[in-house]
Amino acid sequence: MAATALSPEVLAKYEPVIGLEVHVQLLTETKAFCGCANKFGAAPNTNICPVCLGLPGALPVLNEKAVEFATLAALALKCEVRERSIFARKNYFYPDLPKGYQISQFDKPIAEHGWIDVPAADGSTKRIGITRLHMEEDAGKSIHDGYPDSATRTYLDLNRCGTPLVEIVSEPDIRTPDEAFEYLTRLKEILLYTGVSDCNMEEGSLRCDANVSVRPRGQEKFGTKAEVKNVNSFRFVRDALEYEIERQIQVVESGDKVVQETRLWNANDRRTYSMRSKEQAHDYRYFPEPDLPPLVLTQEFLAQRSGELPEPPEARRARMIAEYELNEKDARTLTASREFADRFEAAARTAKNPRRVANLLLSEIGGRLKALNLEQENSPVSMAGIVLAADLLDEGKISSKQLKQLFDLCFEEGEDFAAVYEREKPEQITDTSAIEAMIDEVIAANPKQVEQYRAGKKTIAGFFVGQVMKASKGQANPALLNELVTKKLDS
Ligand SMILES: [Zn+2]
Repeated sequence: MAATALSPEVLAKYEPVIGLEVHVQLLTETKAFCGCANKFGAAPNTNICPVCLGLPGALPVLNEKAVEFATLAALALKCEVRERSIFARKNYFYPDLPKGYQISQFDKPIAEHGWIDVPAADGSTKRIGITRLHMEEDAGKSIHDGYPDSATRTYLDLNRCGTPLVEIVSEPDIRTPDEAFEYLTRLKEILLYTGVSDCNMEEGSLRCDANVSVRPRGQEKFGTKAEVKNVNSFRFVRDALEYEIERQIQVVESGDKVVQETRLWNANDRRTYSMRSKEQAHDYRYFPEPDLPPLVLTQEFLAQRSGELPEPPEARRARMIAEYELNEKDARTLTASREFADRFEAAARTAKNPRRVANLLLSEIGGRLKALNLEQENSPVSMAGIVLAADLLDEGKISSKQLKQLFDLCFEEGEDFAAVYEREKPEQITDTSAIEAMIDEVIAANPKQVEQYRAGKKTIAGFFVGQVMKASKGQANPALLNELVTKKLDS
């Protein structure tokens, strides 16, 4: 954060008002209005055709998959979906927009009036409204560097022209940079769960613009807003908002007026710079796209999309916390992606004790991965391996000490649990008299603990179990050992 001359008292006099506009690229095979591949990273200008180049006479044909994805996203964000929406031309010239207009939606977007709940600073939940979600196409890319003559030339890559987007516009309900961060985090999570986008910010599949203004607390009327454009991480959005709020308060406090303008965040300087003022702002002269009929969604189509909605991430976490007795942090780990949560739950449900699967995955596997700085997908132990381990433990066929040793071997050898277990088949002492002999020794060596046990401190039985397990080098059958220890102590 840039140094500020503002005291906390001055900052507290003002209330920030924040609204976010998020552009999300949809994961369709082909573009929004033509059959060109919708793929990041292809050689420049190889996925183009007369339609996405806007050549005279070329006509757009709407991609049904894009409509499915936009509808799914809208439903997941609790929006009302319009049965009849209208595509419109948004007219502006830019070198990477050869048509001279972008097909978008204007006064009749596909969806409106959604919301996302975020945690507020006081621990309660705050609902951030979503004004609208509309469909549009992306523009191409101007490449200003990376070529030998980049100092004097700009190159154009039109592969991205016409790729399908949804723009999600929030209500100006956000009051702090932290709320903005939470909103974006949840929005991304919901979209990822819904599977409509990969939300990869580095590749530009999710882009965020923030509108921010300040007003004296208690004042109804909004202050003049600035728009901070294309900030490429949620952390930077938070930083940019913090900077911008202080900048605007400083402007107001010094008796000046905040100018309505577009500003760019510079992450290296940690400040925003003015890009263009309102005088240069565009008038897009929207009008209905004459080459596309109104988009009409049938009840059947909407019902199908509703049926495809996944359990929302927040609800899933709450259910899993109860079902597997998890804390919030562990639930977050297990639901980090829908794919991972699905794999975990599919496996856990086949185990005798699903909670134990969660527990082993988080503690034993999670701990080893963390120590080796590995991600979950690099784990040598599969979900099926964890289920097998959990069941063996439950059946008393291996002790927890043996389990730890087997997991260690898995990580040393890079092998799954089943293979290591088959090879090692840890010896178990199931001979009652052998275990009893060991218990007798431990009892004889610890008269004080025996006295405590007989005086009513039953939990001390665990001490004897532990001692015998140690003496047996972890090989005593745990179920049998437990039973025999209690029997001996009670006799
Ligand atoms: Zn095309």
